[in-house]
Amino acid sequence: EMSQLIMNADLALYTVKNNMKSGFALFDFPMTDQLNEKSFIESVLRDAIDHDGFKMVYQPQVSLETGEVLAYEALLRLTRENIMPGAFIPVAEDNGMIVKIGRIVTEKVIAQLSLWIEQGLDVKPVSVNYSAMQIHDTHYVEFLETLLNQYHVPANLLEIEITENVFLENKQATITFLDRLKKNGIRIAIDDFGTGYSSFSYLTFLPIDKIKLDRTLNMKFLELDNIKVMDNLIALAHSLNLVVVAEGIEEKMHMKRLKVGKCDLIQGYYFSKPLEADDVFNDENCNFSLFL
Ligand code: C2E
Ligand code: MG
Ligand code: MG
Repeated sequence: EMSQLIMNADLALYTVKNNMKSGFALFDFPMTDQLNEKSFIESVLRDAIDHDGFKMVYQPQVSLETGEVLAYEALLRLTRENIMPGAFIPVAEDNGMIVKIGRIVTEKVIAQLSLWIEQGLDVKPVSVNYSAMQIHDTHYVEFLETLLNQYHVPANLLEIEITENVFLENKQATITFLDRLKKNGIRIAIDDFGTGYSSFSYLTFLPIDKIKLDRTLNMKFLELDNIKVMDNLIALAHSLNLVVVAEGIEEKMHMKRLKVGKCDLIQGYYFSKPLEADDVFNDENCNFSLFL
C-alpha cells in the first residue's frame, strides 16, 4: 500500500538523520500497521525491554601521549533492528522508557566489567550515558550500589556521562545525585560539551572528572583559523584538573592538532569505531601508538 511505503521510507530517513555513523539506512523492519515512526519505535523498544533486545558496544578513548586505550564509552544498540540511539533514545525519553532502559544499560555494563575482571584482563573504566530524564529514577543510586556489590566491580571502573542540560531543569537534584555518585567513588564526565548552554561556572563547583568536547565543537574550531580557542578551552579544563576528551575525531590532521593542544584523549573513528564486547581486548584494539 502506498501510504505504508511512504511511512516506511520516512522511517528509514528518520533513522539516517539520527545516525551520524553512516549515510544510509536499510529498510529492514517488517511491514506493520504502525501509525507512525514514533509508535513503531516504541513497540521496538517495548519488545527489546521484554525480550533482551539490547546490547552494548564499547568505543575506546585513546591517550594522545601513548596511544594506549585508557577508557571506553558504552553505547547502546538494538540487536534486532537497525535503528540507532540518536533515533530511539529521544523516544524513550519522551515516553519514560528511558528509566527502564537506563537500568538495563547499567546492569549490562557492570556484568561485562565483572566478566572481564574474572577473565583476568587489564580492565579500564567504562562510561555509561545518563539521560536527564533518569533524574526521576529516584532509587537509581541504590540500584547502582547494589549491582556493584553483587558483581564485585570496583566503583572506580564506572563513569557516568551527563550532559549540560541536566542542570537546566533539576539543578539541585542533579548536584545531590552527582555528590552521591562521587561519594561512592564513581567517576563523572560532562558529555557533549559545547553544544548547549555551556557554562564554565558549574565546572568549578561540581565533582566532575572529565569533559568531553562535542564533535560539532571540534569540527567548528579545528577547521577554521581560530584553533586557538580549542587550546584555551583545553588549558582552562586542565586548570580545573579535568581530563579532556575530544569526541568524533576522524582525521589524522585533527588528531595531530589536538595533540599539540595537549588534549588528553580522543574518542573517534580515526582510532576506532565502537567495538563488540568480544573484540575489546583484541591486541589491535588496545594500543594505537602506531596511529599517533
Ligand atoms: P554520545 O554519548 O555523545 O556518544 C558519541 C556518539 O558519537 C556515538 O553515537 C558514537 O558512535 C559517535 N561517534 C564516535 N566517534 C565518531 C566519529 O569519529 N564520527 C562520528 N560521526 N560519530 C562518532 P551513537 O552510539 O549512535 O550514540 C548517539 C547518542 O545516543 C549518544 O551520544 C548518546 O547521547 C545516546 N546514547 C547512546 N547510548 C546510550 C545509552 O546507553 N543511554 C543513553 N541515555 N543514551 C545513549
Ligand atoms: Mg556519551
Ligand atoms: Mg558526546
